[in-house]
Amino acid sequence: MSQLNPKVGFVSLGCPKALVDSERILTQLRVEGYDIVPSYDSADVVVVNTCGFIDSAVAESLDAIGEAMNENGKVIVTGCLGKKSEMIREQYPDVLSVSGPQDYTSVMDAVHAALPPRHDPFVDLVPDYGIKLTPRHYAYLKISEGCNHRCSFCIIPSMRGDLVSRPVEDVLREAERLVKGGVRELLVVSQDTSAYGVDRKYAPGTWRGREYATRMKALCEGLSELDAWSRLHYVYPYPHVDDIVPLMAEGRVLPYLDIPFQHASPRILKLMKRPGAVDKTLERVLRWRETCPDITVRSTFIVGFPGETEAEFEQLLEFLDAAQLDRVGAFAYSPVEGATANQLPDPVPEAVKQERLARFMEKQAAISAARLEAKVGSVQQCLVDAIEDGIAVARSKADAPEIDGLVHIQNADAAGLRVGDFVDVEITDSDEHDLFGDALVKPGATPFDLKVL
Ligand code: SF4
Repeated sequence: MSQLNPKVGFVSLGCPKALVDSERILTQLRVEGYDIVPSYDSADVVVVNTCGFIDSAVAESLDAIGEAMNENGKVIVTGCLGKKSEMIREQYPDVLSVSGPQDYTSVMDAVHAALPPRHDPFVDLVPDYGIKLTPRHYAYLKISEGCNHRCSFCIIPSMRGDLVSRPVEDVLREAERLVKGGVRELLVVSQDTSAYGVDRKYAPGTWRGREYATRMKALCEGLSELDAWSRLHYVYPYPHVDDIVPLMAEGRVLPYLDIPFQHASPRILKLMKRPGAVDKTLERVLRWRETCPDITVRSTFIVGFPGETEAEFEQLLEFLDAAQLDRVGAFAYSPVEGATANQLPDPVPEAVKQERLARFMEKQAAISAARLEAKVGSVQQCLVDAIEDGIAVARSKADAPEIDGLVHIQNADAAGLRVGDFVDVEITDSDEHDLFGDALVKPGATPFDLKVL
């Protein structure tokens, strides 16, 4: 693009959902002829897409705004923290504009006011899958915004409102465009993927001449028509999740469920305002494995929730033993400003929280390591994310980007691997997080002889 194009700096913080918002804004900026530049010095204006989920994210977002104000001085703030505009304006009264998540119009209005676009018929050379912040071969696919639950530790519904699902045909069209643009893995994100379509009463939509309901199962069926992996994130433990597992067993969506259980004590789950039938949850995890033996179950838990007794914490450890989850993230409870859980009695002392977190992680680390070790000797289909010093850094079907482990392929050069390739890998070793192995290459094979999707 020419030297004369107006220049925008962009700082993107937060979760994959915020990343999708950033991608939309960046796409629109490029469509209108703005250049995206990588330094404060060269930018005419800076957009900061913030996160406001937990206190540390609020602090990080405020720091990022402060840095942009110091280094550049013309700053547009958007994203989750934008919902608390008084807090931002109190610290940084000179920011040009503050808007909340997904408010693309306000961001673009603020950019136009600060920096009018240059009209040029040749600038809209944006690929029709848009601009992506993730590597070219995987992309986040946001299917809805907001959430109808009211978990007591969470303020997302008060920031983002109730569930609003995108029509199924829009989502499938976007997925199709992404795959045409070279994406090999679609990461389905939302606040609650299993509730998809409830607000639209599961209204049908047409894609490629076929009718699909706006519903998680139909969405998965549509996505399975595309030549790419589809991975489901943020699934709430509803019974109808069971309907998706046969699709996983048939290889139509990845055999991977990211399903935050949060705790295993019925009383604590009730205080969290989450489903409390732990025995049923456990039965269901075991049944999923019967239907789909390769399924990977990832979950997150909170330890040290207000009122959690030692016995209730031990119930959680027993659940880990029984459920044998593959991947687990855990957090020591930390109050989020505005969450109803802050009013609960009997906060757990910080030292006890940290001690429980350490015990929890130690137990789960052993389980995860054993589950990885059991894969040694197997062949896993992997997607190559990067090549570094002759070693390919890849992920198997069990590994989501950024949050799970990796598969290190030792013979990347010999196998002629490139970023974005699918390849079968014989697993030869494991550690606590990652797998190691060799790409299967027939003698004299070219890269194109490798087994690809
Ligand atoms: S389901 Fe998730 S987004 Fe919705 S209230 Fe609970 S924790 Fe928050």
